[in-house]
Amino acid sequence: MNDERIEAALREATDTENVTIGPGVLASVDDLFGESFGDRPAVVVADENTFAIAGEEVRRHLEEAGRELVEPYVFPGEPTLYAGYANIEKLVEALQKHEAIPVAVGSGTLNDIVKRASHECGRPYLCVGTAASMDGYTAFGASIEKDGLKQTLTCPAPRAVLADLDVLVNAPPDMTAAGYADLLGKVTSGADWLVADALGVEEIDPSGWSLVQDHLREWTGEPAGLHDGDQQATDHLIEGLIMSGLGMQSYQSSRTASGAEHQFSHLWEMEGLGHGEGHEGPPLSHGFKVGLGTVAIAALYERVLQRDLGNLDIDAVCNAWPGRDEVERSVRAVHTLPDLEEGAVEQSLAKYITAEELAERLGLLREVWPDLRARLADQLMPAGQISEMLRAAGCPTKPTEIGLGWEEFEATYSRARTIRKRYTVLDLAAEAGIFDECIEELFAPDGFWGREAASQTRTVER
Ligand SMILES: [Zn+2]
Repeated sequence: MNDERIEAALREATDTENVTIGPGVLASVDDLFGESFGDRPAVVVADENTFAIAGEEVRRHLEEAGRELVEPYVFPGEPTLYAGYANIEKLVEALQKHEAIPVAVGSGTLNDIVKRASHECGRPYLCVGTAASMDGYTAFGASIEKDGLKQTLTCPAPRAVLADLDVLVNAPPDMTAAGYADLLGKVTSGADWLVADALGVEEIDPSGWSLVQDHLREWTGEPAGLHDGDQQATDHLIEGLIMSGLGMQSYQSSRTASGAEHQFSHLWEMEGLGHGEGHEGPPLSHGFKVGLGTVAIAALYERVLQRDLGNLDIDAVCNAWPGRDEVERSVRAVHTLPDLEEGAVEQSLAKYITAEELAERLGLLREVWPDLRARLADQLMPAGQISEMLRAAGCPTKPTEIGLGWEEFEATYSRARTIRKRYTVLDLAAEAGIFDECIEELFAPDGFWGREAASQTRTVER
């Protein structure tokens, strides 16, 4: 890891104080623990799989260092640990029997469970990551299903994080690939922030931006190496993921790391794609959904950047602009799950602007477009290149590979826009009156997705 970068990021972060990344650093877990919590006792929390991979070793190192320990709390290994509130309640009950500091040994779900349970017990915790699978290690908030709904429950990020490269390179390849996709998604999320900034919707925060964006090309430059278990490539990936979480802490919002590509992922997640009945194998990862979302948004940006938005006929666009009631009706029409529908109406109306406000925004767009277009071109990569990089890392890049039909995928563009008030290229395209034509171009026989769909049909027929 690059110590200077991490140190600089930790100075900006609100919750996390210490990060250690490197080969063999598991052996120094007690030093990190002591630095962060003094002589408090520790309790290892893992599931049967992660306990075998690293938890037992963590426990042993702590014991050998003379640390007072409470018996480890180990969740079953089968079925795959689920991010449900019931698991948090179980862990809280166990943690309340003592005062020990939790040491979470695992990846996304385990970390989220310990993050929230520790918070409910009023305790900080230490996280030992076992896979470079997402950017949530150093992020605040836990993604948990409660009352039948996947939600982000508030809780601080871990006080200390340890990532041993010897453990990470041996993680299941799909998990590493998913982490890569989550990180590569910062290409489009950054572009969305540029748009929101230029239009005066959400100003760029220089340090939140820098932590995530300044070294993104370096962190994501070796997808094939990841696939081959290369340590250097894995080091870059985990550094990027950890910095990305620290960026969210610094800005106190996921804007730094999440744009329209995450709205695709969240919509599919909320609708249970890759979970539950009829789905075999482990649940579809966050990263795989984000990866496909990233290709989709990069492809949309290509269509948008083709146009000269400095030349918009503002009157014509504003005349066709829907009223509030019309927006509400159309949002309700595209959702079938009641809770999702209510949430989408609320979020869509929160970012709704009147025709007069739109005229003002489009006036600004006309002015800033030449500069914004240049900055976007600089930030983005061609969708085809993103797709190739994802493929090299071992990620799916077509909707059918994650169990989604082409029509549902096409409909995701307009539906994803409704579920969050965060301003993205989806809003830009809609407000500029070019949304429908851009999507049509993408799915036309010679469009980006039209060609992908056709090549797939040919492969099947062969
Ligand atoms: Zn993510």
